[in-house]
Amino acid sequence: MRNVGVLRSTGWAMLDSRSPGGTDENFDKEADMRVLAIGAHPDDIELGCGATLLAHVARGHEVSMLVMTTGEQGPQMARSRTHEQEDAARLLRANLYWGNFEDGAVPEGRTAVGSIEAILRETQATVVYTHASRDTHQDHRATAVATLAAARRATSVLQYESPSTIGFTPTIFVDVEGFVEGKLALLRAHASQVQRNGLVDLEAIEAQARYRGFNARLRHAEGFVCERMQFDLGVHRMTPEQELLLLNGTN
Ligand SMILES: [Zn+2]
Repeated sequence: MRNVGVLRSTGWAMLDSRSPGGTDENFDKEADMRVLAIGAHPDDIELGCGATLLAHVARGHEVSMLVMTTGEQGPQMARSRTHEQEDAARLLRANLYWGNFEDGAVPEGRTAVGSIEAILRETQATVVYTHASRDTHQDHRATAVATLAAARRATSVLQYESPSTIGFTPTIFVDVEGFVEGKLALLRAHASQVQRNGLVDLEAIEAQARYRGFNARLRHAEGFVCERMQFDLGVHRMTPEQELLLLNGTN
């Protein structure tokens, strides 16, 4: 599978071992990457960064999802939204955690922060995805605030967009060529939102991936606002002998 990312040095959007700069040592380190995506309701994570998570999984990264509420205020059909989220997580091959907060009343303070911290400790995630801070939905805003506090030690924190995000200007893009169909499949697992109520418009999602790709000079992309991101140039992988050689070379 070919997927050369914009952020080549970090490797997390890069699947192609033929890419310039990629070495086996780099890949070993990247294979250890642990990712936690946090969303207020079932389907929020898939909408915001589903294709990026698929790319992480394809690279062998451990991906976990934390869904703060079961979305019980939303439309309920034959199968509960809990089951739909479980199906989507299975499809994604991600671990699924629940925050068990009340739909519509996600707190942003100590309780929510503590709950996210506990999952961060358990998953040892260093890369965290969460809602954008500006959003018309109070649960999305609260989840963003709580995540930024809880993930203060994470090396990378990226915020994704959702249909209710306001004034979202992405500055970090992940190349998701080859993962858009997979993202749509993840969203189809949320049948009550997609097929029956039209709350999730798959055509719009596909167009958004293309548009974000256009923003990023790619074919398809997901865009993020960057709270913090560690840009790994891989220099620490030099052996002491190589370092010495470099130092001597500059004298
Ligand atoms: Zn939501």
